[in-house]
Amino acid sequence: MGAKSSIEWTDASWTPIRARNLETGKVGWHCERITTGCGTPTEGGCYAEKMNLRLGTGLPFKPGHRKDIEIFLDEQMLLAPLRWKKPRMIFVCSMTDLFAEFMLDEWIDRVFAVMALCPQHTFQVLTKRAERMRDYISSPNQKRRVLAARDDVTPGVGSGKYNAKAALDAGARLYSGPLPNVWLGVSAERQQEADERIPHLLDTPTTIRFISAEPLLGPIDLTRIQYSDEITFNVLKGPNKLPFGHFDGATLDWVIVGGESGPNSRPMHPDWARSLQKQCEAAGVEFFFKQRGEYTWVDDSDYDNDAIPELPPNWRERTDDKYICMRADGSRSDGYGGDSSEFLYRVGKKAAGRLLDGREHNDIPKAHTS
Ligand code: SF4
Repeated sequence: MGAKSSIEWTDASWTPIRARNLETGKVGWHCERITTGCGTPTEGGCYAEKMNLRLGTGLPFKPGHRKDIEIFLDEQMLLAPLRWKKPRMIFVCSMTDLFAEFMLDEWIDRVFAVMALCPQHTFQVLTKRAERMRDYISSPNQKRRVLAARDDVTPGVGSGKYNAKAALDAGARLYSGPLPNVWLGVSAERQQEADERIPHLLDTPTTIRFISAEPLLGPIDLTRIQYSDEITFNVLKGPNKLPFGHFDGATLDWVIVGGESGPNSRPMHPDWARSLQKQCEAAGVEFFFKQRGEYTWVDDSDYDNDAIPELPPNWRERTDDKYICMRADGSRSDGYGGDSSEFLYRVGKKAAGRLLDGREHNDIPKAHTS
C-alpha cells in the first residue's frame, strides 16, 4: 500500500513488507493476531486481514500460514517515499506490524534508512509489539546498521540521481538523536494493554510518542498506568521517575481514540472516549477522535440524528446485537436503573460519524519542518 489513505489522522499508508502466496502466486500482506484488539474471526477483526483475504494472498493472519507464503521486502514500495516530493504524514506498515516476530531486523533497518532519507515526510510507526520496538531502537548497533542500509538504499533511487548530500544529511540526522520525522506509537485497546505497552514506549527514544486507542474496548486511565504492583505513572503529565531510568521526562504527546468498525464490531461506551478526551484536555495533550465506530449513541448534540432508529419494544429479545445497552464497565444492562448504562445502536461507521460531545476532535502534533 502506498496510496492516499482514508485514515483520518494520516495522509498516506506505506507497507513495504509484503507476502506472496506460494500456491497461487497472489501478493498481499501477512501479520499475526496477538491481542484482543486484533479481533477474532467472529468478533471484531483486523481490517488489514480482511483486505488481504479479498485482495491479497487470500490467507488469514495466522502464524500457521507462514509456511504457505514468502514474506519479502518489496524494493519498489520501499523506495516510494523518496519519490513523493510533497510532504506527507505516512502511516508505516498499516497492513501489518513492523515489529512483528517474523520481521527481519535487516528489513526494519531499510525502512528506517528510507525514513532518514526523507526528512520532508513525517512517519507514524504504530505497533502492538512495544517491547520489540524498544529493543530494536535502543540496540547499540541500530544506527550503524541503518547507516549501512542507507548505503544499500540510496543507489536504488536511480544511478544518475544518487544524491550524496541527501545521504550525508541522513547520516548526520541519524547520529544527532532520534529521527525528528519519525513518531512512535503503540496500540492500547484497554487498561491492560495500556499498562503493558506504554511503559515500553516511554522507554524508547523518539521525538513524538503516541497511542492509538482503537478499537477502544474498555476504559483507560492514562493518569494511572500500572507499571508494577507498587509503581503507577501519569503518562500524560510528567515528570515520571521511570524505574528503567532512561527518559525520566517522557510522556505521551498524542492520543487517538476510535470505536471499532466493520462486521461483528464490538461496541464502545461513550464514557470511555469522553474520559480520554478529558484526561488529554487537562494535561494539554493532543487528542484525535477518529470515529464512533459501528455503534452510535444519543447525546444532546445529535439527539435528532435520523440515523438513530427507534428502539423497538422487543429489543431485549433480539440476538443480532443491533440494539444494546451497556454499562461503563462493559457489562450488558437491561436498560433500567440509573447506572452508567447507555443505549448503543448499530448504524454503521458512516452514519455514526465522528462527533464526540457535539464536535470533532482533530488535534495532531505539529510535524517538524525539515
Ligand atoms: S497487529 Fe495489526 S495488522 Fe497485525 S493482526 Fe493485529 S490488527 Fe491486524
